[in-house]
Amino acid sequence: MTPSGNAQSKMEGSLADEIDGEIDGEMDGDNAPVHESHANKVAGKVDHARIERAVREILLAVGENPDREGLRETPARVARMYAEMFGGLHLDPRRHLKKFFTERYDEVVLVRDISFQSMCEHHMLPFLGKAHVAYLPGPRIVGLSKLARVVEEVARRPQVQERMTEQIANLLVEELKVKGVAVIIEAEHTCMTIRGVRKPGALCITSSMKGHFRTGSSTRAELMTLIYGHRQ
Ligand SMILES: [Zn+2]
Repeated sequence: MTPSGNAQSKMEGSLADEIDGEIDGEMDGDNAPVHESHANKVAGKVDHARIERAVREILLAVGENPDREGLRETPARVARMYAEMFGGLHLDPRRHLKKFFTERYDEVVLVRDISFQSMCEHHMLPFLGKAHVAYLPGPRIVGLSKLARVVEEVARRPQVQERMTEQIANLLVEELKVKGVAVIIEAEHTCMTIRGVRKPGALCITSSMKGHFRTGSSTRAELMTLIYGHRQ
């Protein structure tokens, strides 16, 4: 994988970077992880007491004693964790794309290596990896960090990787009137690595290509070079 977490490396010192700084100022500091800045907002919408009761039941069901010292705080801890992991359910990622700039830029915009953590809805186990989000602008461009926020919020809910990929692509198509969108997600699923077939290191790769990325083989080839070229 990539040596650095430089998600904006293809737009160095670019127009979009400047714009991003401008329009991002309206809400949260960019150095704060997204989930922390939203934690308070969503905390009230998750029924912690209900999760705590359920976790206690699970502990009893597997033959544990939920009242022993080490487990006493566990249900409450798990409730806070789920509130964070599923916090995206109470947020509309679309709002990040409502603030856009009208700008002429006819080339590919790519934010590469957006790390994310999600929860497989089949096993309630995490899957985590990187998303690459690219678009070919129409009349609108959006702050680069907004793309990362969209990934983050789409990820923080019970998910399957295929749907997550499609959802991110559709949001960009709908809100930005783009000429093309490409979303590629690479993730490791702990439901495959710690249980079941137990294949650590296996990566699941999904992609959603729309517009010019679907129809134009040269646009698609350029994208692949931007994403994977540096790894060779
Ligand atoms: Zn799973």
